[in-house]
Order: sequence, then C-alpha cells, then structure tokens
Amino acid sequence: MNITILSLFPEILRGFFESSIMARAVERGLVSYTLTDIRDYATDKHRKCDDELFGGGPGMLMKPEPLSAALEAAGARQARVVYVSPGGRLFNQAYAGELAHEERLILLCGRYEGIDQRVIDTYVTDEVSIGDYVLSSGEVAAMVLVDAIYRLIPGVITGESLEEESFEGGLLEYPQYTRPALYDSMTVPDVLVSGHHANIARWRFKKRLEKTLLYRPDLLQGKGLEGDLRALIKELTEQGGE
Ligand code: SAM
Repeated sequence: MNITILSLFPEILRGFFESSIMARAVERGLVSYTLTDIRDYATDKHRKCDDELFGGGPGMLMKPEPLSAALEAAGARQARVVYVSPGGRLFNQAYAGELAHEERLILLCGRYEGIDQRVIDTYVTDEVSIGDYVLSSGEVAAMVLVDAIYRLIPGVITGESLEEESFEGGLLEYPQYTRPALYDSMTVPDVLVSGHHANIARWRFKKRLEKTLLYRPDLLQGKGLEGDLRALIKELTEQGGE
C-alpha cells in the first residue's frame, strides 16, 4: 500500500513511520509512504495556508489553493482521499478492513477550523472521524487511521494475532495473563494453566462475551445470536443480574 499524508506539520508523523512494526513493513516493501508539507504548495512569499472565514466567526480556515495544488501533485483524482474530520463518518475496525484493500491512500490533515468545503467537494472520497471529540489537528487522527489499517495488510503481522482481537466476530478481547503466575498475591485463572484447550477456548469466549455485554452491548445488537451464544448470555445474565 502506498500512503501519502498531506499536513502542515509532517514532522509530527515522521517518527511513526520510522518506528517499530511500521518501519519493518516499509523495509519489507509492504508499505511505502510520502509525507507532504502543504506549505510547500503555497505560492505567496509568506507561504500563507490559512485565512478568515466568509460569514464571520472565530478562527481561521485552510485555504483551497495550496491544498488543491498538493492534492493534484499527489494524484488525488485517481486515489481514495480521506479527510480526517470530527464531522465525518465514524471510523471502526470494519472500515479499517475496507481501507486496507486500497493500493493507494491519501490522507488529508486539517488544522485551525478545518479546510475549505470546495476542496472536500472536489477531492475527498471519505470524510472520517476517529471519535466524538475535537482534536486540535488531523495528524494524530491520520496516525490512528493508518495504524489501524496497515496492520491488516497481509504479511504485516501474523494472521493468528488478528483472529481473536477485539471486534473480530463483534466481540471484545478476553483478559490475558503472562508470567509470573503469581504476581502481587494475584494468581491467573486455573483454566489457563490446565492445558485443556477446549475449556480454555470456552472460557475465553465467555470472557469476550462478558466484557462485550459490560462495555459494548451495542456490538451485539442486530446479531443473529444462535445456540451457544444465547445460552452463554442467559448464564451470564443469571449470574450477574443486569
Ligand atoms: N471546526 C471543526 C469542527 O468543529 O468540526 C474542528 C476543527 S479541528 C480544531 C482541526 C482539525 O483537526 C480538523 O480539520 C481535523 O482534521 C482534525 N480533527 C479534529 N477532531 C477530529 C476527529 N474527531 N476525527 C478526525 N479528525 C479530527
């Protein structure tokens, strides 16, 4: 996958691409990237990229000309162009999976009050929010998207690691433990050291369901809850009341 990120502060993003799993994915040719400084496309001597709002109001808006020049240079008309924005469609694991199939992705980071609507209308295919809160700029949101997306590209991490992660099958992940078996007077659940694989799988499934019911019951809504799952929900609700 080739990723281009357009930003007024690309240095914020550099460390992310040069570290850890991403650095390895780049080295192995699974991901390539370009960080574009939008200011390089400003044409006036002050390299101005923002201006006041028509209609009044506080704050500044990113001007259309440097943005469109940067987008044209990035080949935006032939690519999926994502503008990260609190006003966009809510990002989730399924959306990350969908974007992971793209060969080429352009991400546009806003600053100030955001960007001129005409740029959105001309180039943006997806306006995406990472949650119901307002960040001061789009770089962190762009990193959130890229991080969730690139790890789903085949070969970046092992398929097994992805299989029982949170949101797979609409459930959150089960609690996990590592050595030592006794830590600060706390042990690990007996079943996990029993070596009984079927019981471990059942315990983990039950814990996934328990946690999902507790924190994210919305994930279970609209699912065809069949057999085992129905019985477990009944068992858990009988044990725990609510
Ligand atoms: N005036 C905008 C509004 O009320 O919708 C907020 C602009 S925000 C201060 C500046 C930039 O941060 C946005 O253009 C966007 O790129 C980014 N941003 C802020 N919150 C975000 C969120 N929840 N998801 C994605 N991007 C966000």
